[in-house]
Amino acid sequence: MKPFFLKTFLFFIIISFACCKKQASATSANDNVKKQQTTIFSADSAYKYIETQVAFGARVPNSTAHKQCGTFLIDKLSQFCDTIYIQNCQLKAFDGTILHAQNIIGSFNPENKKRILLLAHWDSRPWCDAESDKAKQQTPVLGADDGASGVGVLLEIARCLSIQKPTFGIDILLTDSEDYGVPSWSDERDSQSWCLGSQYWAKNPHVKNYNAEFGILLDMVGGANAIFPIEENSQYYAPHIVAKVWEEAQQLGYSDLFVSQPFGAITDDHLPINEIARIPTIDIIHLNNQTGFPDYWHTTKDDMTNISKNTLKKVGDVVLNSIQ
Ligand SMILES: [Zn+2]
Repeated sequence: MKPFFLKTFLFFIIISFACCKKQASATSANDNVKKQQTTIFSADSAYKYIETQVAFGARVPNSTAHKQCGTFLIDKLSQFCDTIYIQNCQLKAFDGTILHAQNIIGSFNPENKKRILLLAHWDSRPWCDAESDKAKQQTPVLGADDGASGVGVLLEIARCLSIQKPTFGIDILLTDSEDYGVPSWSDERDSQSWCLGSQYWAKNPHVKNYNAEFGILLDMVGGANAIFPIEENSQYYAPHIVAKVWEEAQQLGYSDLFVSQPFGAITDDHLPINEIARIPTIDIIHLNNQTGFPDYWHTTKDDMTNISKNTLKKVGDVVLNSIQ
């Protein structure tokens, strides 16, 4: 994703004892139903899915590691989902390179009209252009957090949904070529050079006239010190989904991660989904008021040492509960 720029109740409950009692029992009945519907998200399992992706090496489009990881992801989603769609496409990068890209989609209940879209990018960045040491800048990013973490959480969610089938449709979209944007040493500033796979998907969805009620994008969701404030484009395009997800996090006791503070706007895969596909979509992304992205972002340090099972668990629980 592209660096951001910073910008800047009322309740009526008093009715009667009888009514309150009725409400209370209704709430607890709903809670029970919800609990029964929620399969336990395993942070160990999500962690392993991240480890496996990282073990292939940097998943830069056109590389062997990219091809091998694509095969692994198709294999996993085929194991868990009802239907798999593989969208092969040739995308032109800002420098003219033709990227042999692949968006991978795993669907639950593909016939159901009521759908929710979950997405994360599976490619990794070709350059560590945030490194101050120039010698390191040509190294591809390993992307344990930037890429693999979101995919790892979604694979684990797919595993949970394969055990406890949703009553509506869910699509897991693993986008390619998100992170091939213009490097920081270039004078060019082309925001369209990012999110190439999601731009393609938004113009050419895997199913004709595809629609979903809402979407949730996960990006950099595994950091040990992660916090997830409210990203500005998410709030602009999908305020009701932001409210729903952050409320869910609060109910689960995870307000330490999901902080209800606004933050700057990020160019990420949720933008084409909002602007082209017109599906209200939010971005759950690690952002910090002091430093912006985490210090290992787009550097050689984005490896497994930063990945926290505690963070993965909390993100997984929030997303699973938000789609029940
Ligand atoms: Zn990135």
